[in-house]
Amino acid sequence: MGKKPFERPVITKINAGMPAKFGLQIRHDPITDIDGVPLQSLMDQYGSPLFVYSEKTIRQTYIEAYRAFSSRYPNVLLAWSYKTNYINAICNIFHQEGAWAEVVSGFEYRKALKNGVNGGHIIFNGPYKSTDDLILAINNESLIHIDHFDELYDIIEISKSMEKKPKVAVRVNMDIGIYPAWDRFGFNYENGEAWDALNRIMHYENLELVGLHTHIGTYIMSTAPYKVASKKMADLAIGLARKFNHHIQYIDMGGGFASKNTLKGGYYPGSDTTPSFDDYAEAIISELMKAEFAPDHLPMLILETGRALIDDAGYLAGTVIANKRLADGQRASILDAGVNLLFTSFWYDHDIRPGKDVSDQTEETAIFGPLCMNIDVIRKSTAFPLLKKGDPFVIKRVGAYNNTQWLQFITMRPNVVLIDLKGKVHIIREKETLETLNQHEYTPDHLQVI
Ligand SMILES: *Cc1c(COP(=O)(O)O)cnc(C)c1O
Repeated sequence: MGKKPFERPVITKINAGMPAKFGLQIRHDPITDIDGVPLQSLMDQYGSPLFVYSEKTIRQTYIEAYRAFSSRYPNVLLAWSYKTNYINAICNIFHQEGAWAEVVSGFEYRKALKNGVNGGHIIFNGPYKSTDDLILAINNESLIHIDHFDELYDIIEISKSMEKKPKVAVRVNMDIGIYPAWDRFGFNYENGEAWDALNRIMHYENLELVGLHTHIGTYIMSTAPYKVASKKMADLAIGLARKFNHHIQYIDMGGGFASKNTLKGGYYPGSDTTPSFDDYAEAIISELMKAEFAPDHLPMLILETGRALIDDAGYLAGTVIANKRLADGQRASILDAGVNLLFTSFWYDHDIRPGKDVSDQTEETAIFGPLCMNIDVIRKSTAFPLLKKGDPFVIKRVGAYNNTQWLQFITMRPNVVLIDLKGKVHIIREKETLETLNQHEYTPDHLQVI
């Protein structure tokens, strides 16, 4: 009998859980259904992986956010941030709830128009608006938020040959105590550039200055920066009232509220640390109320909250493809959904749950996607239940930015479905196929035959 080859032993550490306040155990409660629709049946019908949205959660979150602000301030408006998620069905849920559209490109602008949003209810942000975009927006009486002086001069130039007076606001950036400061968008407050821009607009009678805008950052985990920003915005508005007797119609505080996702390296889960809509509202509105606005000139408060309104409503369901051991013995699971579908996995420690009842035992596991690329890591190491090949999983809170920043890379983008208030399932974006891609390609005659 020959000598058997040596196999390196692997000691598997099964984790029964660290003691927590409620006892022993790291629990990963399975998600077996979404709004009452069984997960496995969704994937059987629409494929795996699959994005699933809950209309109920979207509407509830919107109402919660709107109530937090409107109960404290008489005149509040939300504008849906298209780049956060511009699947038409999702946008239209927000529009039905009363949200205007907030867009940052000509493409998004036209998408909002096609969704039936009145041109006057579109806020046009962003550092690049083409001449065609500006002409369209001026004709539609949209709210154009100016990003830099060159854009201001463009608008002045274009407006000379137009009958309509452009409705403009100035985007302001400022020191809010978070560093590095976002100073690349808009005009700076501290160095006087914002005030300079406002003065130029006021001295040019062909423009109508309707508002002030700021968007201080994204995933802002504390409410204090909003207090600072609101005060500075109010100061500018009061300055305009004093100098020009001009009362702006609105102050737009942008977006940036954190969702309940957990940032990489976060010690506590985001669900425990993220401020509530009430907290953010209190910070912003207490400053606006303190400012010297006369009651009949209190500006409307606009918010462009994206992430915090949609993250919770989106799920990514999928299937475990395989389990393996890495060279050091660590367990690894390969999923059929990778970072090409989940751009936010570069920032968040996503909450991944079993899609069916499994044992409470966990083991430190690396969670990979299906791509043949080293970057395709959903979680580098997390205590994860022992799912087997073929088992379903669900990643929670993926509604923000993933369906706009996803890549067609190595695999094709899958179906996106919406569960409506009655539990009925609708495809809201169909999966891509080889034909989808080939439609956009041309192979010259001399390359047809290989
Ligand atoms: C992206 C963006 C938003 C939405 O930001 P969130 O952080 O998702 O709330 C709002 N306003 C502007 C101008 C943006 O660019």
